Amino acid sequence: MFDYLIVGTGLYGAVFAAEAKKKGKSCLAVERRRHIGGNIYTEESHGINIHKYGPHIFHTDSDEAWDYVNQYVRFNRYTNTPVARYGDELFNLPFNMNTFHSLWGVKTPGEAKKIIEAQTREARDRIGDTPANLEEQALILAGKDIYEKLIKGYTEKQWGRRATELPSFIIKRLPFRFSFDNNYFNDRYQGIPIGGYTPLIEKLFEGTEVRLDTDFFENKEELLKEAERVVFTGQIDAYFDFCYGPLEYRSLRFETEVLDTDNFQGSAIVNYTEYEIPYTRIIEHKHFEEFGSYERKSEAGKTVITHEYPAAWKKGDEPYYPVNNDTNNALYEKYKKLAGESGVFFGGRLGKYKYYDMDDVIMDALADTRAIL
Ligand SMILES: Cc1cc2nc3c(=O)[nH]c(=O)nc-3n(C[C@H](O)[C@H](O)[C@H](O)COP(=O)(O)OP(=O)(O)OC[C@H]3O[C@@H](n4cnc5c(N)ncnc54)[C@H](O)[C@@H]3O)c2cc1C
Repeated sequence: MFDYLIVGTGLYGAVFAAEAKKKGKSCLAVERRRHIGGNIYTEESHGINIHKYGPHIFHTDSDEAWDYVNQYVRFNRYTNTPVARYGDELFNLPFNMNTFHSLWGVKTPGEAKKIIEAQTREARDRIGDTPANLEEQALILAGKDIYEKLIKGYTEKQWGRRATELPSFIIKRLPFRFSFDNNYFNDRYQGIPIGGYTPLIEKLFEGTEVRLDTDFFENKEELLKEAERVVFTGQIDAYFDFCYGPLEYRSLRFETEVLDTDNFQGSAIVNYTEYEIPYTRIIEHKHFEEFGSYERKSEAGKTVITHEYPAAWKKGDEPYYPVNNDTNNALYEKYKKLAGESGVFFGGRLGKYKYYDMDDVIMDALADTRAIL
């Protein structure tokens, strides 16, 4: 008999298992996929660690989260500096002086501010202070050029709807940087674990029995006999057999290929901001590990790229992102009430129906284990 049955071997389940072990508790972890790691799983190919479920950059402002992962693995100094491509034009992100120089040829913050102020003023005069949709909101916040080249098509692809049909609250603010700083994140710490994320998960699960290719629902009766308590990190609505109806998610589709070249795009991430191009970004995985070192670690003459396509979600598809609008949040509250009465612990992004970055998941799992164990 185990103390805990952990359903799902993503980051939440892994941190829970590691903390339970420290407290002398035994866990059995089951995973329906053929590998551990959930969406942060990385798999080696041609000497490159492939981010199988989308690019993952660890970034945090929390000393505790940073110290926690650094106990288990070493991180490189990868800094996220994505590039946006619109037609044949390339722009640095986040919006900074490099972006403004490429857009308008301006060389000083003063010149850039003048153009942004003129374009946002024009939008505000036309629209007023209460934007009716995402398009109007973005025009008020960023002005016409940035909206049309860098926001419109990308956002429409991501949400599968036109910007005029999307609510304005999706974009609350758009930070501009009036310096030549291409670092996407403002956090104090960021990087990629050397060797990928899978070794981190393996270390967290050391000493815990893990059964892969095992769906909880298909083996529920037998599994429940094996443990005192259950920690569930799958979809909370699925756990309760969608009794109040399904929550909504967005899905993704990944197409990965090996190319016979050393360097395809010179950046780990290039966003394609035109609506007509069906994918949102191309990921070139080797740059996550070779960034900054300029030392080739992968096989010569090979690179691996992934096209990422946004996709609508329906029952049975992989649920990548919760859609936290008012309707879904209200529905989640109903499931949360059932969860409270069930005696089962729900954790992680699917168990709590919340978009969590990796550091949030770690902090949440640590808080939960402190409270539970
Ligand atoms: C495309 C994308 C990019 C991201 N990029 C970043 C980033 O750059 N930086 C960052 O900090 N965060 C990023 N994230 C968020 C990050 O992926 C999550 O914070 C983290 O993976 C959540 O871990 P989890 O354990 O909660 O969930 P998951 O990783 O989803 O783990 C849940 C596990 O449970 C398993 N499971 C579900 N149901 C069952 C069942 N019935 N039986 C058995 N097993 C089951 C699933 O197969 C899965 O392995 C990104 C997310 C996505 C989707």
